[in-house]
Amino acid sequence: MADHYDVIVIGGGPAGYHAAIRAAQLGLKTACVDASVGKDGKAALGGTCLNVGCIPSKALLDSSRQFHNLLHSFADHGIRVASPAIDVKAMVGRKDKIVKQFTAGVALLFKANKIASYFGKGRLLAGRQVEITAPDGTRQTIAAANVILATGSVPVELPFAKFDGKFIVDNAGALDFDAVPKRLGVIGAGVIGLELGSVWRRLGAEVTILEALPDFLATADRDVARLAAREFAKQGLDIRLGAKVSKAEVKGNTVEVSYGDAKGEQKIVVDRLLVAVGRRAYSEGLLGENTGVRLDERGRIAVDEHCWTGVEGVWAIGDCVRGAMLAHKGFEEGIAVAELIAGRAGHVNYDTIPWVIYTEPEIAWAGKTEEELKAAGVPYKTGSFPFAAIGRAVAMNETAGQVKIIAHAETDRILGVHMVGPGVSELIAEAVVAMEFHGAAEDLARIVHAHPTLSEAVHEAALAVDKRAIHKAN
Ligand code: NAD
Repeated sequence: MADHYDVIVIGGGPAGYHAAIRAAQLGLKTACVDASVGKDGKAALGGTCLNVGCIPSKALLDSSRQFHNLLHSFADHGIRVASPAIDVKAMVGRKDKIVKQFTAGVALLFKANKIASYFGKGRLLAGRQVEITAPDGTRQTIAAANVILATGSVPVELPFAKFDGKFIVDNAGALDFDAVPKRLGVIGAGVIGLELGSVWRRLGAEVTILEALPDFLATADRDVARLAAREFAKQGLDIRLGAKVSKAEVKGNTVEVSYGDAKGEQKIVVDRLLVAVGRRAYSEGLLGENTGVRLDERGRIAVDEHCWTGVEGVWAIGDCVRGAMLAHKGFEEGIAVAELIAGRAGHVNYDTIPWVIYTEPEIAWAGKTEEELKAAGVPYKTGSFPFAAIGRAVAMNETAGQVKIIAHAETDRILGVHMVGPGVSELIAEAVVAMEFHGAAEDLARIVHAHPTLSEAVHEAALAVDKRAIHKAN
């Protein structure tokens, strides 16, 4: 007889491991099935986020930022260093160590929570059975009262620029270059293109980013996009908009990329090409016969607002379902579903999910943009405040950017907060708390913010909504 659980989670990425841990905390007998293999060839829990996404990219962003500061801003502080050099192998090695620490950490958390961990590819069969195929091909079947599908997403591949793992790479490949490419081409000026483009630019690569859309950061607030574009241009990131790539061909040790824009047909020659044009839900081989689970029009597992697939006891969460492909969205869906299974009130507020792009300056937002409010006919007012007038930012030598708060014109309720600047990945949390509690701009304006801190930009922007910022003319 097959091993039987209260909950089986298929996928041990951010969404899946949160679901498994919360289910176990709630006293449910839980198993997690995951097929990921680390660089050492062993099982590596944590999915894209820990293995080739959030954490390793932040490790490289931090290394490259330090190197860039050493070259470009240490002298402003009166610090002189003779001939700094970057050791890419050491930098990537440090990143790999951090990845190992965190993937092993999830395995330890599973042990501590008595979660049964199965290494292999899971397939949902009818009747909430899960068939597991181990890397050596052996198969076993387990069963549960509830199955949570959390299989994540994979990079979109362009038919005319197929990944070869060396010259034309996805995000994982661009985390593992063995040297700084002299010329790096990037297709897609989205989150990955900007973050990984920044890493290699700071280390000296000439980076050209080809973006199909005519607008930069089309989903962000226009002020944010404008400010960020200006800073990226200063850093030498060559972002070309309205660029439709038609071909990428490896020739010798280079890649020739052909694209069309308003000026006609163009070509660039680069040493490495990163394709970062989005990700798609991953569900290959996941669904057996007659499970009743459906895919939506974009190949994602169809679910309702509670992540329920419509099949008794079968749920789906994270990147493989509708909504933002963000680790923290997956975390919260995992927790919510575990709580619903345990008979509690699990819930995710999709309206206040923060977005963060870890460039320099950082970009972060939550809630609606001005454009969205305009389109919806919602009356609003705005207040903004530049980091250039914040003492702490000036002391840090990081003055680019601003905080902008959008509030309802009549009720003053905060509808959106949009930031570009130093440390805004952390500052956005205050905005999210305020919005979660249905706060007004005046609430933020009345809160005491420590001086001197970057958070004063949030305070001043809230004051500016009512045209009473202290350190700028209103
Ligand atoms: P993205 O959707 O952020 O950006 C893709 C970009 O590529 C878009 O601007 C799109 O217009 C452009 N594009 C699409 N097809 C193109 C083409 N043929 N030629 C030129 N440009 C084209 O996707 P991404 O950067 O690949 O990231 C994938 C997912 O991973 C996203 O959903 C993102 O949210 C997530 N992610 C998040 C973070 C973070 O939160 N900091 C970091 C990395 C990835």
